[in-house]
Amino acid sequence: MVLTQVYQAEEGSSAFVGSVFASRYVQDPLPRYEMPQKSISKDAAYQIIHDELLLDSSPRLNLASFVTTWMEPECDKLMLEAVNKNYADMDEYPVTTELQNRCVNIIARLFNAPVSEKEAAVGVGTVGSSEAIMLSGLAFKRRWQNKRKAEGKPFDKPNIVTGANVQVCWEKFARYFEVELKEVKLSEGCYVMDPVKAVEMVDENTICVAAILGSTLTGEFEDVKMLNDLLTAKNQKTGWDTPIHVDAASGGFIAPFLYPELEWDFRLSLVKSINVSGHKYGLVYAGVGWVIWRSKEDLPEELIFHINYLGADQPTFTLNFSKGSSQIIAQYYQFLRLGFEGYKNVMKNCMESARILREGLVRTGRFDIISKEKGVPLVAFSFKDMSHNTAMKLATLLRRYGWIVPAYTMPANLEHMTVLRVVIREDFGRPLAEKFLSHVAMALDELDSSSKAPLLPALKYTIEVVSGTNDANQPFMVRVLPQEAEPVKKTVPLLTGKTKGVC
Ligand SMILES: *Cc1c(COP(=O)(O)O)cnc(C)c1O
Repeated sequence: MVLTQVYQAEEGSSAFVGSVFASRYVQDPLPRYEMPQKSISKDAAYQIIHDELLLDSSPRLNLASFVTTWMEPECDKLMLEAVNKNYADMDEYPVTTELQNRCVNIIARLFNAPVSEKEAAVGVGTVGSSEAIMLSGLAFKRRWQNKRKAEGKPFDKPNIVTGANVQVCWEKFARYFEVELKEVKLSEGCYVMDPVKAVEMVDENTICVAAILGSTLTGEFEDVKMLNDLLTAKNQKTGWDTPIHVDAASGGFIAPFLYPELEWDFRLSLVKSINVSGHKYGLVYAGVGWVIWRSKEDLPEELIFHINYLGADQPTFTLNFSKGSSQIIAQYYQFLRLGFEGYKNVMKNCMESARILREGLVRTGRFDIISKEKGVPLVAFSFKDMSHNTAMKLATLLRRYGWIVPAYTMPANLEHMTVLRVVIREDFGRPLAEKFLSHVAMALDELDSSSKAPLLPALKYTIEVVSGTNDANQPFMVRVLPQEAEPVKKTVPLLTGKTKGVC
């Protein structure tokens, strides 16, 4: 057998030394449950793992995720240079600590925190918005409990009011930290939390109302200003002081650049903390988030640990201890490199790609667009016939071209809706958007010919170049035109089953 021949290659032979593929390593079974007894060469270890990873999808074609998949090579270099720095060693790496403090200050001002010119803002870098949300939720819970204790009232049934569209990390927070999650149900045509219903659900045990700037499902911004007004009125009537948290995981780096007039942040008096994912529209690779508090009073002192940092006090408030420094450094790189202007241009481009995609999808005549034009740059859409299976099949067909597009059912009350969602990231420009649209047209075509009784007449599409020049700054226009159907000929076997959830 060939396998035994390879296996028996002598350790010192040139074939063994020269090529991993001529060595026994590519024939040996891989350790799956137990640590192997023997060492192997570094080239073989690299090649084996590298090859196996080829089967992962391509991150840049993963349209399911908000998380950054491209950064400049200069930043990649900085990140690699810091790969052996433990962020927790603040005394040893004071400059890294200083960079995180600068990022906190910059973000706090971007969110209009009431801090004076040179005052240090209150906030912390985290692994992502999930950790940021655990921390802010904990701060709300502790503040509420302290107040209730002081008033001699029971403090064992805290709750939090959110929309049913919240990201799963809020459910995690509720379960891990024993807080009841009271969800405002969504309704047909309204896919975000209704502030009126949210405020109705607030009671004396509500530690905060969490609003989302950029719903994970549809990218829509919730009306934080209206929530603030209604809650202020309720607080005045009841004597409570229920605060607001804004989950700006995706929208926190969109709104300040594209909608500076929109009041959603610390300009609203009840907003006490805000989280944002540095690794979403903060434009850094996975592993960084931020939480900012309005002021020191909003972060109970008992939750803060003080580290002596070169003779100065460095407060810390995180769930974990050791972690890498690269993401923090990369965040500062982006602020320094892009500035307000750069972020604004990136976000404008993302919105433009979203527009091209939205219009192309509308032209197919097959989809209802669920996302709004204002919000996070994404397109959420569903088949007009609302068919769950058709949406799943389209996702499967697009996967054959390499695209990953999630199809998911909406939360309680809207379970009959299956939504497909394409997130536009910085590295998804017009050429990719147009390619994607042509693949959607081909997939629809295939979907129709595979379905014995199409719910809508089978359509064929022609892509026509309307205008275009060689100038990269000039818009390039294409038109997607539906044609009369050809007779249904072939049947294509399709995979079914639910694709993964959304992140
Ligand atoms: C992505 C997201 C989260 C979770 O953030 P991570 O940074 O992935 O931990 C929370 N809330 C919303 C609205 C999100 O979009």
